[in-house]
Amino acid sequence: MSEHDAPIVSLRDVHVRFGRGASVRAVDGVDLEVRRGEVLALVGESGCGKTTLIRSIIGLEPVASGSIEVDGHAVTRDARSLRRLRRRVQMIFQDPTGALDPRHTIHEAVAEGLRIHRVPGDEAALVADALARAGLRPPERYVRRFPHELSGGQRQRVLIAAAMALDPAVLLADEPVASLDASIRGEVLALMRSFVDDHGVSIVAVTHDLGLAWNIADRVAVMYLGRIVEVGPTEEVLAAPQHPYTRALLSVVPETRRLEQQILHGETPDPSRIPAGCRFHPRCPVVASGEAARLGIEARCRGEDPTLTERAPGHTAACHL
Ligand code: SF4
Repeated sequence: MSEHDAPIVSLRDVHVRFGRGASVRAVDGVDLEVRRGEVLALVGESGCGKTTLIRSIIGLEPVASGSIEVDGHAVTRDARSLRRLRRRVQMIFQDPTGALDPRHTIHEAVAEGLRIHRVPGDEAALVADALARAGLRPPERYVRRFPHELSGGQRQRVLIAAAMALDPAVLLADEPVASLDASIRGEVLALMRSFVDDHGVSIVAVTHDLGLAWNIADRVAVMYLGRIVEVGPTEEVLAAPQHPYTRALLSVVPETRRLEQQILHGETPDPSRIPAGCRFHPRCPVVASGEAARLGIEARCRGEDPTLTERAPGHTAACHL
């Protein structure tokens, strides 16, 4: 594998635990790779561990076991390596209002990272260039303003500009458009996509919205109770989902109503009480309908934890079916 083909982020059997006696298994054995120059959508219900997972990539959550590498360097708690990591990997959050200091001008908001990382060059020019690349043109119109003078979409563009000013290799985006009006979501997603196509950055976009995945992602990884249960090219995962959980998620997306709608029954998933066997079995429609029993796999569903196996080239799913 040439250096260029090597994944930019690679996670091996990553576990992140919280709570008393580390009883909450928020991330519970994740293997995942992010390729250079791709958008990977990480999809799942809230509480499935997807935000914790991306926070662990940037060193914000200590990993209980397993390993994470970014661009060939292990993510550790060592201050020097964290400093390097936090320039190479930038994160943008769901709520641009909360992420911007209301007392700082837009110039300050973008310049802060440049100062922290001692980026050489003319600060005003670097800030202006970053704002223009994020679609805030002409930048002189924005630099002296304060966050409350901008719209939600413009504020999210400021955060994207601040992240991209550092020329990162990876952008982690936590529900990047969830707080924005539907009318401007497409523009912000197109902007993010342009950074991938024009600058070769890789993006991991955490979302509960499969429509977002459909719009910008090259690949989709579906997460359930701390584990990736399906991953593959977007079109394949959305057109031919292999895992019953992915099928259930898709069945409630309006564009995919040709799938019979599946309401998931059973308890809400609780990462402090992960079921034995397949972690999805208490809610799995294949088990509930009796199909698993007819196919002779029900005992395995209840007793054996499935691993990701290949269903088509580059498309894997963790299910005994
Ligand atoms: Fe459902 Fe069994 Fe597949 Fe789990 S392994 S998703 S319980 S069919």
